[in-house]
Amino acid sequence: MTHQHTHTTNYGRLFGIGIALNIGYVLLEFSFGWHINSLALLADAAHNVGDVAGLLLAWIAVAMGNIKANQHHTFAWKKASILASFFNAAILLLGMGALAWEAISRFGQVNNVQPETIIWVAGVGVIINAITAALFLKGSQSDLNIKGAFLHMAADALVSLGVVISGIIYIFWPLSWLDPMMSLIIATVVVLSTWSLFKRSTHLLFEGVPDDIDPKSVSDALIAHPQVRQIHDLHIWAMSTTENSLSVHIVIDQSDNNSFELLKEIEELISHQFKISHVTIQIESLGFAEQCSSLSCTFDPQPLSGQNA
Ligand SMILES: [Zn+2]
Ligand SMILES: [Zn+2]
Ligand SMILES: [Zn+2]
Repeated sequence: MTHQHTHTTNYGRLFGIGIALNIGYVLLEFSFGWHINSLALLADAAHNVGDVAGLLLAWIAVAMGNIKANQHHTFAWKKASILASFFNAAILLLGMGALAWEAISRFGQVNNVQPETIIWVAGVGVIINAITAALFLKGSQSDLNIKGAFLHMAADALVSLGVVISGIIYIFWPLSWLDPMMSLIIATVVVLSTWSLFKRSTHLLFEGVPDDIDPKSVSDALIAHPQVRQIHDLHIWAMSTTENSLSVHIVIDQSDNNSFELLKEIEELISHQFKISHVTIQIESLGFAEQCSSLSCTFDPQPLSGQNA
Protein backbone atom coordinates (compact mmCIF):
# COMPACT_ATOMS: atom_id res chain seq x y z
CA MET A 1 0.00 0.00 0.00
CA THR A 2 1.18 3.54 -0.57
CA HIS A 3 2.87 5.45 2.20
CA GLN A 4 2.69 9.05 1.07
CA HIS A 5 3.75 10.65 4.30
CA THR A 6 3.12 14.35 4.43
CA HIS A 7 6.07 16.66 4.90
CA THR A 8 5.97 18.58 8.14
CA THR A 9 7.47 21.96 8.92
CA ASN A 10 10.71 21.90 10.90
CA TYR A 11 9.43 23.14 14.24
CA GLY A 12 12.72 22.69 16.09
CA ARG A 13 13.81 26.31 15.67
CA LEU A 14 10.37 27.71 16.58
CA PHE A 15 10.22 25.65 19.78
CA GLY A 16 13.80 26.66 20.63
CA ILE A 17 12.93 30.37 20.32
CA GLY A 18 9.67 29.97 22.25
CA ILE A 19 11.32 28.08 25.10
CA ALA A 20 14.24 30.55 25.36
CA LEU A 21 11.84 33.54 25.46
CA ASN A 22 9.72 31.92 28.15
CA ILE A 23 12.69 30.94 30.33
CA GLY A 24 13.91 34.55 30.14
CA TYR A 25 10.48 35.78 31.19
CA VAL A 26 10.30 33.35 34.13
CA LEU A 27 13.59 34.77 35.46
CA LEU A 28 12.33 38.37 35.04
CA GLU A 29 9.00 37.65 36.77
CA PHE A 30 10.65 35.71 39.56
CA SER A 31 13.22 38.39 40.40
CA PHE A 32 10.69 41.26 40.33
CA GLY A 33 8.06 39.21 42.15
CA TRP A 34 10.64 38.48 44.85
CA HIS A 35 11.77 42.11 44.95
CA ILE A 36 8.34 43.75 45.39
CA ASN A 37 6.95 40.75 47.30
CA SER A 38 4.10 40.19 44.83
CA LEU A 39 2.43 36.80 45.17
CA ALA A 40 0.68 37.33 41.82
CA LEU A 41 3.97 37.69 39.94
CA LEU A 42 5.55 34.74 41.76
CA ALA A 43 2.49 32.59 41.01
CA ASP A 44 2.61 33.57 37.34
CA ALA A 45 6.35 32.80 37.25
CA ALA A 46 5.55 29.29 38.51
CA HIS A 47 2.84 29.00 35.86
CA ASN A 48 5.34 30.00 33.17
CA VAL A 49 7.69 27.23 34.31
CA GLY A 50 4.76 24.95 33.40
CA ASP A 51 4.58 26.67 30.00
CA VAL A 52 8.19 25.87 29.27
CA ALA A 53 7.34 22.24 30.13
CA GLY A 54 4.31 22.36 27.79
CA LEU A 55 6.40 23.71 24.90
CA LEU A 56 9.04 21.05 25.58
CA LEU A 57 6.31 18.39 25.51
CA ALA A 58 5.01 19.53 22.11
CA TRP A 59 8.57 19.74 20.77
CA ILE A 60 9.45 16.24 22.00
CA ALA A 61 6.24 14.96 20.37
CA VAL A 62 7.22 16.48 17.01
CA ALA A 63 10.71 14.99 17.33
CA MET A 64 9.30 11.57 18.32
CA GLY A 65 7.03 11.67 15.27
CA ASN A 66 10.13 11.76 13.07
CA ILE A 67 11.69 8.62 14.55
CA LYS A 68 11.64 5.71 12.11
CA ALA A 69 9.51 2.66 12.83
CA ASN A 70 11.22 -0.55 13.95
CA GLN A 71 10.05 -4.14 14.25
CA HIS A 72 8.72 -3.62 17.77
CA HIS A 73 7.07 -0.26 17.04
CA THR A 74 5.65 -0.63 13.56
CA PHE A 75 3.73 2.65 13.91
CA ALA A 76 6.87 4.33 15.29
CA TRP A 77 6.08 7.04 17.89
CA LYS A 78 3.63 9.07 15.84
CA LYS A 79 0.94 9.04 18.52
CA ALA A 80 3.15 11.21 20.77
CA SER A 81 1.67 14.31 19.11
CA ILE A 82 -1.88 13.29 20.10
CA LEU A 83 -0.77 12.57 23.66
CA ALA A 84 1.06 15.92 23.86
CA SER A 85 -1.99 17.89 22.68
CA PHE A 86 -4.11 16.04 25.25
CA PHE A 87 -1.68 16.87 28.07
CA ASN A 88 -1.37 20.50 26.95
CA ALA A 89 -5.16 20.86 27.06
CA ALA A 90 -5.38 19.10 30.44
CA ILE A 91 -2.57 21.22 31.95
CA LEU A 92 -4.22 24.41 30.68
CA LEU A 93 -7.62 23.43 32.14
CA LEU A 94 -6.05 22.52 35.51
CA GLY A 95 -4.02 25.75 35.50
CA MET A 96 -7.13 27.86 34.89
CA GLY A 97 -8.94 25.97 37.65
CA ALA A 98 -6.11 26.86 40.02
CA LEU A 99 -6.18 30.50 38.86
CA ALA A 100 -9.94 30.73 39.44
CA TRP A 101 -9.58 29.12 42.88
CA GLU A 102 -6.84 31.58 43.83
CA ALA A 103 -8.88 34.53 42.53
CA ILE A 104 -11.98 33.55 44.52
CA SER A 105 -9.94 33.28 47.72
CA ARG A 106 -8.57 36.79 47.13
CA PHE A 107 -11.93 38.55 47.03
CA GLY A 108 -12.24 40.77 50.08
CA GLN A 109 -8.52 40.66 50.80
CA VAL A 110 -6.68 43.95 50.97
CA ASN A 111 -3.17 43.70 49.61
CA ASN A 112 -0.43 46.15 49.03
CA VAL A 113 -0.09 46.29 45.25
CA GLN A 114 2.58 48.17 43.33
CA PRO A 115 0.69 48.64 40.08
CA GLU A 116 3.52 50.30 38.11
CA THR A 117 5.91 47.35 38.48
CA ILE A 118 3.15 44.82 37.82
CA ILE A 119 2.03 46.69 34.67
CA TRP A 120 5.59 46.81 33.42
CA VAL A 121 6.37 43.12 34.04
CA ALA A 122 2.99 41.93 32.72
CA GLY A 123 3.45 44.17 29.66
CA VAL A 124 6.65 42.28 28.84
CA GLY A 125 4.62 39.08 29.31
CA VAL A 126 2.07 40.20 26.69
CA ILE A 127 4.89 40.69 24.17
CA ILE A 128 6.76 37.45 24.99
CA ASN A 129 3.61 35.32 24.89
CA ALA A 130 2.24 37.00 21.75
CA ILE A 131 5.55 36.44 19.91
CA THR A 132 5.61 32.78 21.01
CA ALA A 133 1.97 32.30 19.96
CA ALA A 134 2.68 33.91 16.57
CA LEU A 135 5.47 31.36 15.96
CA PHE A 136 2.86 28.58 16.03
CA LEU A 137 -0.07 30.37 14.37
CA LYS A 138 0.49 28.87 10.91
CA GLY A 139 0.96 25.27 12.07
CA SER A 140 -1.97 25.47 14.48
CA GLN A 141 -4.52 25.29 11.67
CA SER A 142 -3.51 21.83 10.48
CA ASP A 143 -1.87 20.17 13.49
CA LEU A 144 -3.62 19.65 16.83
CA ASN A 145 -0.29 19.35 18.66
CA ILE A 146 0.88 22.75 17.39
CA LYS A 147 -2.59 24.14 18.08
CA GLY A 148 -2.14 23.12 21.72
CA ALA A 149 1.09 25.12 21.97
CA PHE A 150 -0.47 28.08 20.13
CA LEU A 151 -3.62 28.15 22.25
CA HIS A 152 -1.67 28.07 25.49
CA MET A 153 0.64 30.93 24.48
CA ALA A 154 -2.28 33.01 23.18
CA ALA A 155 -4.15 32.38 26.45
CA ASP A 156 -1.12 33.54 28.42
CA ALA A 157 -0.82 36.73 26.36
CA LEU A 158 -4.47 37.33 27.29
CA VAL A 159 -3.79 36.68 30.99
CA SER A 160 -0.90 39.17 30.96
CA LEU A 161 -3.01 41.73 29.08
CA GLY A 162 -5.70 41.37 31.73
CA VAL A 163 -3.12 42.02 34.45
CA VAL A 164 -1.91 45.17 32.61
CA ILE A 165 -5.47 46.49 32.23
CA SER A 166 -6.45 45.84 35.83
CA GLY A 167 -3.14 47.44 36.94
CA ILE A 168 -3.93 50.61 34.96
CA ILE A 169 -7.46 50.78 36.36
CA TYR A 170 -6.03 50.21 39.85
CA ILE A 171 -3.90 53.37 39.57
CA PHE A 172 -7.09 55.45 39.19
CA TRP A 173 -9.46 53.36 41.31
CA PRO A 174 -7.56 51.25 43.86
CA LEU A 175 -10.33 48.65 44.23
CA SER A 176 -9.15 45.41 45.81
CA TRP A 177 -11.55 43.18 43.82
CA LEU A 178 -10.25 44.36 40.41
CA ASP A 179 -7.41 41.85 40.18
CA PRO A 180 -9.35 38.70 41.20
CA MET A 181 -12.29 39.79 39.00
CA MET A 182 -10.03 40.06 35.96
CA SER A 183 -8.48 36.66 36.77
CA LEU A 184 -11.92 35.01 36.82
CA ILE A 185 -12.91 36.52 33.47
CA ILE A 186 -9.64 35.37 31.90
CA ALA A 187 -9.95 31.85 33.34
CA THR A 188 -13.45 31.55 31.86
CA VAL A 189 -12.33 32.69 28.39
CA VAL A 190 -9.36 30.30 28.40
CA VAL A 191 -11.43 27.30 29.54
CA LEU A 192 -14.00 27.96 26.81
CA SER A 193 -11.31 28.15 24.11
CA THR A 194 -9.42 25.07 25.36
CA TRP A 195 -12.42 22.78 25.68
CA SER A 196 -12.50 21.81 21.98
CA LEU A 197 -8.77 20.96 22.03
CA PHE A 198 -9.38 18.74 25.06
CA LYS A 199 -12.34 17.03 23.39
CA ARG A 200 -10.63 16.53 20.03
CA SER A 201 -7.40 15.12 21.48
CA THR A 202 -9.32 12.73 23.76
CA HIS A 203 -11.37 11.65 20.74
CA LEU A 204 -8.19 10.87 18.77
CA LEU A 205 -6.68 8.98 21.73
CA PHE A 206 -9.64 6.60 21.47
CA GLU A 207 -9.06 6.09 17.72
CA GLY A 208 -12.00 8.35 16.87
CA VAL A 209 -12.43 9.47 13.27
CA PRO A 210 -10.64 12.84 12.87
CA ASP A 211 -13.08 15.78 12.75
CA ASP A 212 -12.20 16.77 9.19
CA ILE A 213 -13.12 13.34 7.75
CA ASP A 214 -16.76 12.34 7.32
CA PRO A 215 -16.84 8.52 7.58
CA LYS A 216 -20.20 8.31 5.80
CA SER A 217 -18.87 10.08 2.71
CA VAL A 218 -15.79 7.81 2.72
CA SER A 219 -17.98 4.70 2.72
CA ASP A 220 -20.34 6.23 0.12
CA ALA A 221 -17.37 7.04 -2.13
CA LEU A 222 -16.07 3.46 -1.84
CA ILE A 223 -19.49 1.91 -2.57
CA ALA A 224 -19.93 4.24 -5.55
CA HIS A 225 -17.05 2.56 -7.41
CA PRO A 226 -18.61 0.38 -10.16
CA GLN A 227 -16.51 -2.70 -9.26
CA VAL A 228 -17.33 -2.56 -5.55
CA ARG A 229 -20.24 -4.78 -4.44
CA GLN A 230 -20.02 -4.22 -0.71
CA ILE A 231 -17.59 -2.95 1.90
CA HIS A 232 -17.16 -3.92 5.54
CA ASP A 233 -14.72 -3.60 8.43
CA LEU A 234 -14.07 0.06 7.60
CA HIS A 235 -11.80 1.76 10.14
CA ILE A 236 -10.56 5.35 10.02
CA TRP A 237 -8.26 6.71 12.71
CA ALA A 238 -5.48 9.19 13.37
CA MET A 239 -1.92 7.87 13.67
CA SER A 240 -0.73 11.32 14.73
CA THR A 241 -2.08 14.86 14.65
CA THR A 242 -0.97 15.08 11.00
CA GLU A 243 -1.42 11.55 9.57
CA ASN A 244 -4.55 9.47 9.14
CA SER A 245 -5.06 5.79 8.47
CA LEU A 246 -7.79 3.70 6.86
CA SER A 247 -8.39 -0.03 6.54
CA VAL A 248 -11.31 -1.67 4.76
CA HIS A 249 -12.51 -4.94 3.25
CA ILE A 250 -13.84 -4.53 -0.29
CA VAL A 251 -16.05 -7.17 -1.91
CA ILE A 252 -15.90 -7.66 -5.68
CA ASP A 253 -17.45 -10.14 -8.12
CA GLN A 254 -15.90 -13.60 -8.39
CA SER A 255 -15.40 -13.04 -12.13
CA ASP A 256 -13.74 -9.65 -11.65
CA ASN A 257 -10.05 -10.01 -12.53
CA ASN A 258 -9.23 -6.35 -12.68
CA SER A 259 -8.58 -5.94 -8.96
CA PHE A 260 -5.14 -4.26 -9.25
CA GLU A 261 -6.66 -1.43 -11.24
CA LEU A 262 -9.39 -1.18 -8.59
CA LEU A 263 -6.81 -1.00 -5.78
CA LYS A 264 -4.99 1.84 -7.51
CA GLU A 265 -8.20 3.81 -8.05
CA ILE A 266 -9.43 3.34 -4.48
CA GLU A 267 -6.06 4.40 -3.05
CA GLU A 268 -6.02 7.49 -5.26
CA LEU A 269 -9.54 8.36 -4.17
CA ILE A 270 -8.85 7.96 -0.46
CA SER A 271 -5.52 9.76 -0.39
CA HIS A 272 -6.62 12.69 -2.55
CA GLN A 273 -10.24 13.25 -1.62
CA PHE A 274 -9.96 12.44 2.08
CA LYS A 275 -6.26 13.15 2.79
CA ILE A 276 -5.71 9.73 4.36
CA SER A 277 -2.11 8.72 3.74
CA HIS A 278 -1.92 5.20 5.18
CA VAL A 279 -4.36 2.90 3.38
CA THR A 280 -4.80 -0.87 3.80
CA ILE A 281 -7.34 -2.67 1.60
CA GLN A 282 -8.37 -6.31 1.73
CA ILE A 283 -10.09 -7.48 -1.44
CA GLU A 284 -12.59 -10.32 -1.09
CA SER A 285 -14.81 -12.26 -3.44
CA LEU A 286 -18.49 -12.60 -2.56
CA GLY A 287 -17.94 -16.23 -1.57
CA PHE A 288 -15.07 -15.31 0.76
CA ALA A 289 -16.93 -12.34 2.25
CA GLU A 290 -19.79 -14.58 3.43
CA GLN A 291 -17.28 -16.31 5.72
CA CYS A 292 -15.39 -13.14 6.72
CA SER A 293 -15.18 -12.90 10.49
CA SER A 294 -15.10 -9.09 10.34
CA LEU A 295 -18.33 -8.82 8.35
CA SER A 296 -20.13 -7.01 11.15
CA CYS A 297 -17.10 -4.99 12.31
CA THR A 298 -18.30 -1.77 10.72
CA PHE A 299 -20.34 1.27 11.72
CA ASP A 300 -22.87 0.96 8.89
CA PRO A 301 -23.30 -2.74 7.98
CA GLN A 302 -24.76 -3.42 4.55
CA PRO A 303 -26.11 -6.77 3.34
CA LEU A 304 -24.01 -8.82 0.94
CA SER A 305 -25.64 -9.20 -2.44
CA GLY A 306 -24.47 -10.91 -5.60
CA GLN A 307 -26.38 -8.58 -7.85
CA ASN A 308 -24.62 -6.08 -10.07
CA ALA A 309 -25.37 -2.48 -9.20
ZN1 LIG B 1 0.72 29.26 30.44
ZN1 LIG C 1 -13.91 -9.09 5.28
ZN1 LIG D 1 -12.66 -4.32 12.39
